[in-house]
Amino acid sequence: MITSPKGWNVQCSVYQYIQSRPLPSGCFVACTGTSVHSPNAVGNQPLDKAIHKLFLMFRRKCAQKSPKFSVLPSGMDSLRKCCALIVIGVLASGMGTRCSTAQNAPASPQSTILDRLLAGGKSAWTPEQIEAMERLRDAALKNPYALDELRHLTDNIGPRLSGSPQAQQAVDYIAQEMRALGAEVTLEKAMVPHWVRGVETAEVVSWPGQAPGASQKVVLTALGGSVATPAEGLTAEVVVVDDWQQLHALPAGTVKGKILLFNHKFDKELAAEGHGGEAYGGGVVYRGEGPSAGAALGAVAVLVRSVGGADYRLPHTGLTDYAPDVAKIPAAAVAAEDADLLKDLAGQGPVTLHLTLTPQTLPYAQSYNVIADWKGSEHPEQLVVVSGHLDSWDLGTGAIDDGAGVTVSMQAIHLLKVLGIHPRRTVRFIAWMSEEEGSEGAAAYIAEHGTEAANHIGAIESDLGADHPTGIYCAGRHDLSQWLRPVGQVLDAIGAGGLVDAGGTGEDISGLTEKGVPSFAPVQDSRFYFNYHHTAADTFDKVDPRHLNENAAVMAVLAYALADSAEPAPR
Ligand SMILES: [Zn+2]
Repeated sequence: MITSPKGWNVQCSVYQYIQSRPLPSGCFVACTGTSVHSPNAVGNQPLDKAIHKLFLMFRRKCAQKSPKFSVLPSGMDSLRKCCALIVIGVLASGMGTRCSTAQNAPASPQSTILDRLLAGGKSAWTPEQIEAMERLRDAALKNPYALDELRHLTDNIGPRLSGSPQAQQAVDYIAQEMRALGAEVTLEKAMVPHWVRGVETAEVVSWPGQAPGASQKVVLTALGGSVATPAEGLTAEVVVVDDWQQLHALPAGTVKGKILLFNHKFDKELAAEGHGGEAYGGGVVYRGEGPSAGAALGAVAVLVRSVGGADYRLPHTGLTDYAPDVAKIPAAAVAAEDADLLKDLAGQGPVTLHLTLTPQTLPYAQSYNVIADWKGSEHPEQLVVVSGHLDSWDLGTGAIDDGAGVTVSMQAIHLLKVLGIHPRRTVRFIAWMSEEEGSEGAAAYIAEHGTEAANHIGAIESDLGADHPTGIYCAGRHDLSQWLRPVGQVLDAIGAGGLVDAGGTGEDISGLTEKGVPSFAPVQDSRFYFNYHHTAADTFDKVDPRHLNENAAVMAVLAYALADSAEPAPR
């Protein structure tokens, strides 16, 4: 019996698919149109509301603390176009009965049903290969290499802004470390922006209720790529809008000659629910497009409320994206508290700000992607990319963004060496340059290797921090996540086995994804990432060694799995 409970949004193609499978009677199937989450999210990672409701219902009906169930990412066979989650609980003659039976019986029938659904065919890996994955996973958890390398990259080398001496030092250092592992190292040229931060100060110099002669400091930081104010600064009245709608509703001429502040609030609740990326996406458009939108209306400078969840008056930097046909005006991010201050005061009457930003945009500099190949034993020409980006913003030391991604990728090669594993295909480590300032390194790689996309069997990038991974984002053919299921089972032991279909993964490998290369990224806990990302607080201490090692385990196991499977990943 398959039940479609009233009020649930059951998508027909999913429903029919399930109906066509040889499920035993008593299966309970429900689907909701929503994004995909890992089963490991249950309990410690908030779920999409619809799914959460389902779990609550299971719990209630089972009258058990933890009824057995599983969440499957869609993407199987006819589910190709169905953006749905499938929640499966196994029931017999009543939910409560079966759930309690299942809890008392370790050899629950659920696993066989779920396994059949999940596996859907024979595994691409032998038991010996699965065992190698388990060894890689366990070694990653114990081995301090990734942490030691990250400490050096952040504490000793420091911030790695594109074109800076530290970025060059990082290139040389990583190349030397990869050579020491016995990998074949190449430095591939990329011309990158060379922007240098200068003085960045601001004071409110007149406002309603001001004591005579007083001023108030405003905490801000120049946006990446910003042009400068005059050296002595500029003084202008502040106009505050919360969003595009408010901007467009202003009477003509309101912004002319003024400093425009976009006060879009970062959605902290959304981030706290585990959707940090979506919360960031909601605000980052103002950082990217706000300065040119303000310039088009005659503003003399644009400020944006920091795109992140930090309190403690921590401004977030990040690239701004000047439109080609509009004057470039100075642009900075103000700390959330200062955005609130300016909004409050501007609501009472005219507020004037004195703003000084003196960044410099120097000519493009020559830099490099660091490429290190761990040569394949059977198909050295076939490549599996494991990567992170080496450049960082300059306020902190780029530990979570993205020193961690680089060093967990280094660890994949290091562990292959330590364990003496030589997969069939080449595992290619890449430390990308200039992701933060326009992804010039990635563009240079595509220019050089774009025609070799067919030889790229898979690509992985870690660029969402270093918090606990719950699984793997998979971008590519619809059955990719299903094919990867045995790998997910190896990673289940560390709570990282969820396989999540995604439209894209890492920014630097997006060019490969577009060319049909199966692409992957660890799914990282994003609840706290945007509290530190692009701020002065992105430093080594923010990285939990255990979580870093879990990410290294995901990278090493996945890289090996892609490089040693009997057949390449489906594409
Ligand atoms: Zn990054």
